[in-house]
Amino acid sequence: MENLGYYNGRFGLLDEMTVPFNDRVHFFGDGVYDATYTRNHKIYALDEHIDRFFNSAALLDIHIPNTKKEIADILCELVKKVDSPDQFVYWQATRGTQIRNHTYPEDMKANIWVVLKPVKVKNVYEKVDAITAPDTRFLHCNIKTLNLLPAVMNAQKAERMGVYETILYREGGRVTECSHSNVHIINSDGILQTAPTDHLILPGIARAHLIKACKALGYGVDEYPFTLDEMMNAKEIIITSSGAFCMACKTVNNTEVGGKAPEMLKNIQDWLVNDFNTATD
Ligand code: PLP
Repeated sequence: MENLGYYNGRFGLLDEMTVPFNDRVHFFGDGVYDATYTRNHKIYALDEHIDRFFNSAALLDIHIPNTKKEIADILCELVKKVDSPDQFVYWQATRGTQIRNHTYPEDMKANIWVVLKPVKVKNVYEKVDAITAPDTRFLHCNIKTLNLLPAVMNAQKAERMGVYETILYREGGRVTECSHSNVHIINSDGILQTAPTDHLILPGIARAHLIKACKALGYGVDEYPFTLDEMMNAKEIIITSSGAFCMACKTVNNTEVGGKAPEMLKNIQDWLVNDFNTATD
């Protein structure tokens, strides 16, 4: 198949799938999701993504009717049905199906959705441009919910400006993350500095792998917030997500940034690319 949609056991081409009108997602965006990529039809870092998926669901009292292993098995079976060896693997759990009402039955069972489409991970060695914007999101950014309107608006703003990402900051200048990625710096001490995993950022799986790479290579890691000023003067600004493991910024708001720790950056990128390739060989 060219792509695939799945809903509670039914599957077909994405354009042909239909879902019940009363799925609570239509009224409240009431659900959580996760996403990763395949190479050679093998799903990268699946267990880590499934752990985060169940964690997001638990934080919102959403009851997934399957075990972690069952969800993993469903995903592994479905990716085999899509022709392309390189796929974007997206899945979500919506709270359940019910005529619109804010409250829900305590025993409501979630609906399981999967979207598979052919996409390759990005070339990490390409440098990217970014812009900044105030972070106007709510205070539960650690939960991967379907409520993504600020992310949609900020991603569209980046698209209109012809840049890759929008880097977000809170009042006072603390950089949080981006519309669909985490952001980190190599600071003036040559240490990877990354925001701590509090309620203001999503605990990115690519972020965790970046930290692992730095530790394996003997580089220092500091999980401490940084400001816009510190970011603009950093040795490198790095943007990460599951489809773009480690992209360095060349400009932010049209100002040249980074480019001052190319060797460290390349070593980290090589480590991450190798990790992806060996896990999916
Ligand atoms: N932050 C936000 C807001 C995201 O939406 C994403 C990815 O979807 C990330 C960070 C990166 O997360 P991951 O590395 O798990 O893909």
